[in-house]
Parts: sequence; C-alpha cells; structure tokens
Amino acid sequence: MEFSYIQAVDAQGDAAPEAIAFFNSRGESISYGELKRKSDALARWIAAEPAFEPGVPLVVYGHKSPLMLVCFLACVKSGHAYVPVDVLYPRERIANIIGQLGQTAVLDTIGTIPEVMGDLLVRPHFDIASFSDAHYAQHAGAPAPACVRPEDTFYILFTSGSTGTPKGVQIIAECMDNFSNWLLNSEFALDEKRVWFNRSPFTFDLSVTDLAWGLPHGDTLFALEDEAEKSLALTFEALSKSGITDWVSTPSVLDQMLADEKFNADLIPTLKRTVHVGEVLRPETVSLAKQRFPGLQVFNGYGPTESTDFVSLCEITSEMLADDRSLPIGYTKPGTELVVLDPETLEPVPDGEHGELFVIGNTVAQGYWGRDDLTQAAFHSCPESIARGRRSYRTGDEIARDPSGMFYYHGRYDLQIKLHGYRIELGDIEATLCSLPEVNMACVLPIKRDGLISHLVAVIVLADADAPRGFAQTKLLKQQIRPILPPYMVPRTFKYVDAIPLNQNGKADRKALAALIDG
Ligand code: AMP
Repeated sequence: MEFSYIQAVDAQGDAAPEAIAFFNSRGESISYGELKRKSDALARWIAAEPAFEPGVPLVVYGHKSPLMLVCFLACVKSGHAYVPVDVLYPRERIANIIGQLGQTAVLDTIGTIPEVMGDLLVRPHFDIASFSDAHYAQHAGAPAPACVRPEDTFYILFTSGSTGTPKGVQIIAECMDNFSNWLLNSEFALDEKRVWFNRSPFTFDLSVTDLAWGLPHGDTLFALEDEAEKSLALTFEALSKSGITDWVSTPSVLDQMLADEKFNADLIPTLKRTVHVGEVLRPETVSLAKQRFPGLQVFNGYGPTESTDFVSLCEITSEMLADDRSLPIGYTKPGTELVVLDPETLEPVPDGEHGELFVIGNTVAQGYWGRDDLTQAAFHSCPESIARGRRSYRTGDEIARDPSGMFYYHGRYDLQIKLHGYRIELGDIEATLCSLPEVNMACVLPIKRDGLISHLVAVIVLADADAPRGFAQTKLLKQQIRPILPPYMVPRTFKYVDAIPLNQNGKADRKALAALIDG
C-alpha cells in the first residue's frame, strides 16, 4: 500500500504514542506521540510567525537531538523545506548556505548560532531549544493545513561544489514518499521493530536511510551526541547500552570501529544488520564484520544525494565475497532506471562494459537550489530518448552492469572523491585556497593507502615566489581556510612548488604533480 511519508510517521504518533522514536547518547529522547504533538504545534507557530515567508526553505541548525526531528517535521508540515546545517560546519560555510537560500530564517535547536556566526548571521533566527512546554501547549492543535505537496521541496542538502561554493540538492516530497515506500513495501520490508544506529549527520543523505525506513515503521533511532563521538571508548560505551539492531554508516565508519577488537558481538549483542552506502565497501571489511558478529547480514547500497539516498541495494553473500570482482552495489530499485552510457557519445554501452551511470526516475532530485547552470548540466543531459520525460541525473560514476542486472562501481570520471565517507569536490578546496592572497595556484591531491584515500595534500604555488615555504606558511594558510571549509576538507599536508605542470589541455597534470611531490 502506498503511503505519504509524513502521514505514516504521524500515524505512529496515534498508534503507539509512548514508543520511542529517537534517543541519543546524551539521554535525550522523544516518543512518537511527542514528536507528533510538538511538530504540529511548531508547524502552527511557524505558519503564524510573520518572519517566515510562505514556502521559503528554513535552516535547521544543530546536531543529533530529538529537536532536530521536531523541526524537520514542523517545517514540512507548515509548507517549508528544511535545510539541515550541522554544528560541524564553519561559520563562513553556514553564511554561504544562508546567503544562497535568500529569504530564509534559522531554527536553532541548540541556541548557539548567534555566538557561532556573529555578524555573519544576517537572517532572522529563533532559539527553538528555549521553547517551553507552555509554548508548545499554546500552539497545540491539528496540523497546519499547509503541508508540503508531493511536488514541493521536502529538504535541501548542501554538498561540496566544484567551484568553492556548496550546492543545495533539492529533494521533493514525492521522492521521500517513493524512497520510503520502496523500503517498506519490498523484499527489504521490515518485520519486527528495529533500533537503528543513525550515525550520519543530518546534512548527509545517508541519514535519510533510517528516517525513511525506520520512522514510518515505528522503529527507534539512536544517535551519538557530543562526548560519545570524541573517542572510540566513549562511542563503544554508548553503543553497548543502545540495543541497536540495524547499523547504517559509510564503510569507513565501520572500518574505524572494526580496527578495535572490542567491537564485536559481546559489545553489541543485538546487532543483526548493517547497511552501507557512500563509498566502496571492501570484502575485507565485510568478512571481518561477519567474523566479529556471527550471523550478521551486510547490505551494500549505492546512490548520490541527488537521487534522495540509495537507488540500488543488495545483501552481500558468501558467493560475492568469494568472487574476484569488487563487491556489487545491487539491483535497481523499482521506479528507477539505471542506465550506463558512453560519457562522450551518450550512447548506451553493452552489459559488462564500463560507462557513466545516469539515474532516471522517481527519487531523482529537482535540481540544485538557485543554480540553473549546474542543474542543467547534471539533471538535463540524459538523452530524451532514454529519459522519456522522467527526472534524470548524470552521476559522474564509472559503472558496469552485468547481464543479470547487477551493478558494479569502478570509480569516478571527475575530481569528486570520498575521504573517510565524506563527499568532496577537490575543486571546492582548490578554489578556496586560490582565493587567499598568498596563493597563486593550488592543486589538491588525494593520497591512497591500501586502496583507500587516507588524506589530502595541497600543492601550492605561492603568489610571492620568495615567500618562506615552511611550517609557518602552512599554518597561516590552514588558519585562513578553517572558517570556510569543514574540517574534513582541510588538507593534512601542504607542499610548495614553483609551478604546477599542465597537460595538453592546459589543465593541471595531476599525475605529473603526484610524481613531482613524491620524488
Ligand atoms: P553522496 O552524495 O555523499 O551520497 O555521494 C555519492 C557518491 O558516492 C556516488 O556518486 C559515488 O561516487 C559514491 N558512492 C555511493 N555509494 C557507493 C558504493 N556503494 N560504492 C562506491 N561508491 C559509492
């Protein structure tokens, strides 16, 4: 049976009001009944508050608290898309996002945004954390009548853009409904109630997995907050008390945990399944996880933020682990077509051959917020004879499909990378470095160890050829990019060269450069 995501989550509030929808390692929790009551009240308050222009996307600032969920639901119930902004983001990036959104306002779930942003905070902001029970009671009542329609934007996630400006992926309500309906009405449908590890920050599409899969099913989501994220020991302590059954994370996060032998079935005896999306899942990781957690089911999914979340999924079997090929990324979900085209001619390539993947169908985003140029290139380049009026997205991923319809990932055609699970456009970092007065040219190289990117190196041509090139220079450059880029985008190492070698097209010759800094 097809359902509307919002109605299905609300229905849990009526059916099992006492059941816990979300809790975190700080001991904060919210029941389904409270989630419904508070999000309804907040939606009514938003609808009545003149600072919120009708229909504009609203920034929701915070981390992993129940109030984030309340705000997300309140936004869509009052006809606004929500834009999660995590505390991890530096102030200039937040200012950039707010600037791109124009007539937005900020729902601050921790009450710190004025302090963090200072004079860069130019839009109205509201400290939702200080709302009392009386405040919610004052606005209590039936949901606001202005809930987003299927064609309206449900959320916007900002992801790294190649020119130094993050780009906002606009997901419409229909996408959320379709994604959630697939998960709950397919072979992946859930039987008993689950407890999900909601690991990924809400700014990443991976976090949509358990929001879409777990909440309409009446499951419980568990997240880490603050202290518990600071060390593996504290994380393990929190996990051991969580009772999680289902784990959703990038493979990197699982690798990080598995590096410690204490991460095993004694620590989390309830763990039954893990779901991984976002980067290459290695057979070694799966084998070790299955060894540590006997009977564990491991799933690999594939999909970009631009297609809501994953559009293919499969359970990793022992046959797949024994196969010479890389692990598959799954079969296509219903309502989606994955087509592999020659990146030059845009002609379909035969099964087994590599080509660029285009995602077509009912969970593809509308485009990038306010960026028609980027939207045109990424969402309107699939030949119409193939897209046939459906939304499509050009992924930049090198993929092959085998005759059974199983897909395999083989890398990227461009300079987008994954570092410890984070999506990064190298051009984003390079543009930021080049904006500094000390820098004439910059090129950022990913350094691989054991087949995985371990860190980034920035290769710099200084504006003043005679300027010192040592530790002090690097410190100065890092200091200047830290307020602009999230910590995971700040290159670990800086190298200085007189010139960046160029290839025949006049672009940085990254291979030659890698050899140069290696030597
Ligand atoms: P994001 O928008 O952060 O979800 O990143 C999307 C990109 O992550 C894709 O375009 C791929 O390059 C990569 N990716 C996603 N899932 C997988 C997977 N299962 N295996 C390899 N790469 C993946």
